[in-house]
Order: sequence, then C-alpha cells, then structure tokens
Amino acid sequence: MENLWNDTEAGKHQGLLAERVYSSRLLGANPALVLHGGGNTSVKGVWKNIFGEDEATLFVKGSGSDLISIEAKDFVPVRLDAMLKLSRLETLSDMDMARELKLATLDPTSPAPSVEAILHALIPHRFVDHTHADDIVTITNTASGEARIREIFGDDVIVLPFVMPGFDLAKLCAEVFPAQATPRTIGMVLMNHGIFSFGDTAKQSYERMIELVGRAEAYLAKNAALAAPANIAPSADWSALPALRKNVSNAAGFPMLLRSHTSNSTLAFARHPEVASISQRGPATPDHIIRTKRVAMLGRDVGAYAQAYRNYFEANSKLSKLPLTMLDPAPRVIIDPEFGLISAGRSARDAQIVEDIYLRTQNIVLRAEMLGGFQALGAAELFNMEYWDLEQAKLKKSGPPKAFAGEVALVTGAASGIGKACAQAFLNRGAAVVGVDINPEVESLYGKREDYLGISADLTSLEAIKGILEQTIRRYGGLDMLVLNAGIFPGGKKIEALADELWHKVMSINLDSNLAIMREAHPLLKAAPKYGRVVVIGSKNVPAPGPGAAAYSASKAALTQLARVAALEWGNDSIRINLVHPNAVFDTGIWTEEVLLQRATHYGMTVDEYKRNNVLHEEVSSKDVAELTAEMCGVLFSKITGAQVPIDGGNDRVI
Ligand code: ZN
Repeated sequence: MENLWNDTEAGKHQGLLAERVYSSRLLGANPALVLHGGGNTSVKGVWKNIFGEDEATLFVKGSGSDLISIEAKDFVPVRLDAMLKLSRLETLSDMDMARELKLATLDPTSPAPSVEAILHALIPHRFVDHTHADDIVTITNTASGEARIREIFGDDVIVLPFVMPGFDLAKLCAEVFPAQATPRTIGMVLMNHGIFSFGDTAKQSYERMIELVGRAEAYLAKNAALAAPANIAPSADWSALPALRKNVSNAAGFPMLLRSHTSNSTLAFARHPEVASISQRGPATPDHIIRTKRVAMLGRDVGAYAQAYRNYFEANSKLSKLPLTMLDPAPRVIIDPEFGLISAGRSARDAQIVEDIYLRTQNIVLRAEMLGGFQALGAAELFNMEYWDLEQAKLKKSGPPKAFAGEVALVTGAASGIGKACAQAFLNRGAAVVGVDINPEVESLYGKREDYLGISADLTSLEAIKGILEQTIRRYGGLDMLVLNAGIFPGGKKIEALADELWHKVMSINLDSNLAIMREAHPLLKAAPKYGRVVVIGSKNVPAPGPGAAAYSASKAALTQLARVAALEWGNDSIRINLVHPNAVFDTGIWTEEVLLQRATHYGMTVDEYKRNNVLHEEVSSKDVAELTAEMCGVLFSKITGAQVPIDGGNDRVI
C-alpha cells in the first residue's frame, strides 16, 4: 500500500482543517481504499461562536462529498458534546438521528453530517480516518475472517462484528472501545464493512491506515494472490444490447443506460464455473448496495431476474412494511459470458460508478474464495441497507429526473454551430450525448464527463457509421434520439458553373450519408425504451430556395423528402421524425464579422439590420434552433411526426 504523504505538500496545509483536507484527499486518491463518495474522515477542534467563545467541535465529512476532491467547507462542524450525549441514548431511530445531527451543526448552511458522526466523536483521538479498503473487506467477508484479522493485527486493532452504520454502530463502539482499547490500539476493523484508523496528527492517522491496510495486503499476497486472467477473444454481438437495454428499462419503469466492460477479467468472471453462486452473495461493503443492488443478473433473462428480485423484496419488506411503490426490479449489474460486465444506471455517471464498484468487487470475491469462500451479509441485513431510510431520503431530495434522463442522443456535426448547441441542449435535459464530427475538436468539447462521447469520423464512410453506432451501444447501450445536422454549404455557384464533382460531394455529405445513418440506426431507434425520435436540420432553402445554391437546396429538399417517407415507414416502430428549417443563423463559425459586414453592405444594411432581416425582426441563434430540436424530441411533440417547422423569425417567402 503506497504511502502518498509528502511533507512538503502537507506543509502547505496549515491548520487542523487544512491538514484534514490534505490527508482525506490522499485516501480519496486511492480507489483500493475508497470509491465514489465512500469512506469518511473527521478532526476534532474548536469553533469560535459569535460570542467569541471556543466550542469543542467535530468537523466531519458531510454527505454528498467525495474524499478525492473534498474541501474545507465539506467538513460539517457539529457540537462534540451533543454527539457524546446522543451516544448515551438507549435507542435512536435513523430519522431522529439524522435530525439531531443536523440540529447539532454549528453552521446552518452546511450539508448533513455523515451518519457516522457519533462514532467519530466517540473515538478519543483528534484525527479519525475510515475506508472500505479492498484488502480488509476481502478478508472480513469470509467465514474465518475474524480469526484472520486477529492473526494479522493482534491487539493493534479492535474488531467489531457487522451492525448497521449509524446509531447502532456508534452504540456498539461506545461499549467496545473503552473496554478493549489498549495503548497499542491504532485502528478498528468492522467486519464485512471496512476499517478505521486514528491518531493525534493527520499524518499519524493516515500512516496508520496505510500501515494497517498494507499488512492485510501482504497477507493476501501470500495467501490469496490472484493470477492475471488469460486472454479471451471477445465475441460479443453488440446488436443484441439495445434489446437488453429495453428489457431492463421496462423492468425499471424508466429508460436506463447500459455500459459494457468487456475485458479479460470481466469475461473470465462471467465464465467462472462458480459464477452462479459467487455473484449472488452480495456486495463487498454495505454502502455499495445502494448503487449495485443486492444480486447481479446472470445472462440476459431480465424477466427471471425481476421475478427473483420481486420475491426478495416481498419476503424482506414484510418486516419493514415498505410500500410496493419502492420496488424497482431492474438489475444494476449484469454478468454475461459474451459482454462481460454490464452496468445499468439512470445516468451515465451512475452506470460508471456501478462499473467501478463491480470491477473491484469481482476481484474481492475471487480472492475471498481463495480464503475459503466469499461470504457477505445475510439477505435481511442487506435488504435493510438497500432500503435504508436515510439513503431513500437522500434519493428523494435529489428531485425529479430530467426530461431525457436515461436516454441517448446522437448529434452529427456536433463540433460547432447548431450541432454543438444541440449537444448542449440534450445534455441540459439529462441525455447522454454522442457528438460526431469530421473535426477532431468534437472529441474534447466537454473535457472528461461520462455523459458525453465525442467521435471524429467521416460520415460518408459506411464503416465509420457502423463503428460510431457500435461505440454508442458499448458506451450507453442503445440510441433514442438522432439529430441529423452535419452538412456543407459550398459557396454560391450558378448552375451553368456547377461541376458534377461539387454536386456529388454535396449530395454525398448532405443526403447519402444521412440515408446510411438512418438505415443503420433504425434497429437501435426501434429498440428505444420509450420511442425513437429523429430530428432533421433542414433549411429555409427547401420551401424558399435561393439562386446560386442549387446543390445545397436540392440536397436539403431530397433529405426532407427522405424524412417524410421515413415518417410514414417508421410510425409502426414508434419512431417519429420531424424537421426544422432554420434560416440566417449567424453564430455558426462560417459567418465571420468580416463576411457579415460584406453581406450587410451588399444589401445596404447595418450588420444588426441584416441579422434581423425577417418578419419579426428577431435574430435567430444556434441555441434557438437547438432548443426547438430538443423539444421536438420531448413530450410536446409526442404525437407529431413528419412535421416541418421553420425557425427563421418569419420569412415572407415561407409564410
Ligand atoms: Zn463505512
């Protein structure tokens, strides 16, 4: 276990809270310790109140932050005496505890304190670090886990059996800690859950975590070393994934994204002779279950999974009296011998998090098997964790999903102008977006975010189109919305000067490639969980052509006719296709200030007059076109297909 502590770096962080931020981030930087918001840390200090008095205070990680990027403001100041007093109560319900923690905060603008706040307060050391280290949960999720932990750590750590995080865990710690702690105690192992370390300084507490986990790491290297999986030639038929996505979405009752991870390790796990047993035993650490749900689905029979999940829900919800409305029998982890690991999520981020968690879980399970068998918690305990009041309350707080949550949009010509604005409009509505352009800038439009995939490709190549759709399926599981925007507008050429070559080039890009995309995307759109939608970016030139644009106008007119025929043919597949006809959209890159001035002068207008030269005297922007395009994929247009909507500020030749 690598020790990332650097005295020079640490020296730049002056003060208890700054040191707390520094070492918390070191923990967060190691996915073998914590993943995606898991784990928590705290420091005990003082808070100066408005009367100038010092109050003994616990600064504990607030909910919703991630150790990897945590900041000082993410540590919630809570009154230490209130925490200790709460720990002396006989019982405290989760919801009462959540309210009391909030009441004990010294800054009303803070997020909710971690549910482990009372436990952190009880540990009599200034710095407390808590992780779900892979090596610890591997060993503790086995039948002889406790004996192995005692063998590895002796009396350097206190060992607690599994109890629900929150008040019960704090209560147990309040009893056990004073009874078992010795001057040698530097940590505490929670069975089936994780590990705590503590110390007087940030460095001491961090280094104890690294040391303790390092000992578990060395033990596993000796007793459960995992061999690298053999090379397995992938043989997946990706065209089957959109149908699986539709079934998963139907089970959930809303569209979901599927993300596939096909590697030697995921294929080997999916083909493991014991996979039907080892994949069904639960998560490596309880907080993962909120994301991954209890069992992974094997193969592609969503119906069988949903039925088994329903049975599990009914058997366990009797005790907790959960309403059936909370049942969501859709899997989040799918293990398939061809696809390897498929993760499902309402957003691309959720699917990515599930994948990250399960990639580590696979290895934890395999190594625990080598220690006599992976053994997670019982069904009832896992159910309580999965449907924990506090987690459910958090989900409710996150508000209703966005219009296109769980859906995928593909936009062509997305590097600039209308296409770029469309990509943004769909992202804003919660869709995952695949942006395609011949300009490689399309790849890095949004930096690193899971809900955007930029692909630079030449759409006149059929192979390229097939490749784009395969990438779309592998990353998001299918396609719901297609925006055909890519096109070229060559400079004015009268017919007598129009060469065949230019004519063919315009037709090939503006028309032929769109036919190929529509044809190849049709099976994906047909398998969309709700319904498929296509929006074609046409042109004012279709109803009102201008001289000098024969190839462009003819290509857009033919594209319009193609879309109208598609509307007729695809209605039975619940795919609707509509068109927008923009005109005079000047914020597109082709229109430099210089060209604009030239054109305006040509017509004897100012640039502003030229931009607003329409019936309403309104300037039309890329964003205006993009917003209309996105709305045409929304519920407002759910009963409309084959429509053509001009967006041009009103044009007397079109009206
Ligand atoms: Zn934990």
